[in-house]
Amino acid sequence: MKSVVQPEVVERLRAAGCVFAEDEAAVLTEAAPDAATLGELVRRRVEGEPLEQVVGYADFCGVRVRLRPGVFVPRWRSGLLVELAAAHAGARSTVLDLCCGSGALGMAVRHRVPSITLHAADADPAAVTCARDNLGGGVHRSDLFAGLPAHLRGTVDVLLANVPYVATRHLPFLPAEARLHEPRTALDGGEDGLDLFRAVVAAAPAWLAPGGLLLSEVTEAQVPAAIDAVRAAGLRAAVHSDDDLDATVVTGASPRR
Ligand code: GLN
Repeated sequence: MKSVVQPEVVERLRAAGCVFAEDEAAVLTEAAPDAATLGELVRRRVEGEPLEQVVGYADFCGVRVRLRPGVFVPRWRSGLLVELAAAHAGARSTVLDLCCGSGALGMAVRHRVPSITLHAADADPAAVTCARDNLGGGVHRSDLFAGLPAHLRGTVDVLLANVPYVATRHLPFLPAEARLHEPRTALDGGEDGLDLFRAVVAAAPAWLAPGGLLLSEVTEAQVPAAIDAVRAAGLRAAVHSDDDLDATVVTGASPRR
């Protein structure tokens, strides 16, 4: 809707605790084709749904990612994964976005290196549908590697694995937006948060191409255990962090043959 933002919308958002009420009101107003829809979008937002799920998109790392209700909202901090993945990807690289959610990471990497061959996978059917909205083909419904086409074995140059990594006991402390509107399977990483990470790392050598790179976001506290897992899998470990983004990424490089 091109009309100006109504003060009443800003007020409703502010009363509901939205800190950036003016900005959000502008985004919601822009997204609504008519006044009735605007009322509905504002109601959903006021009831606590993430803004990105309400308007159906997130702006992430230079791309506009389509989102659906119940799909993980890409985090700004994951820009570090995108940067590192794009730096490692060559023009002919095969990139796999595992646990892809909306497909935001793969989409952002392909935006930077358009000629890559991109595959994405997620176990959650809602995420798969959303990733297909964003990526078109190459999206697989797969519990980690289990449902991937066998021909990808040994061919993955860049393995983006933004797996769920919140320790189960920390889940209650996540913001309500995440707890109530994102699937638990996109967040819960088990006792120390590294269950899925360990599973991915253990299987990664079979899927990586020679010289391929696995990249995963972790918390600072998880770094030592994550490095141990990477080394145990026979990959060369490294850690990258970005204080502005509050992001930590562990990588595992496959030997060049
Ligand atoms: N709450 C975490 C974050 O915002 C969730 C990340 C995850 O498990 N992938 O980064």
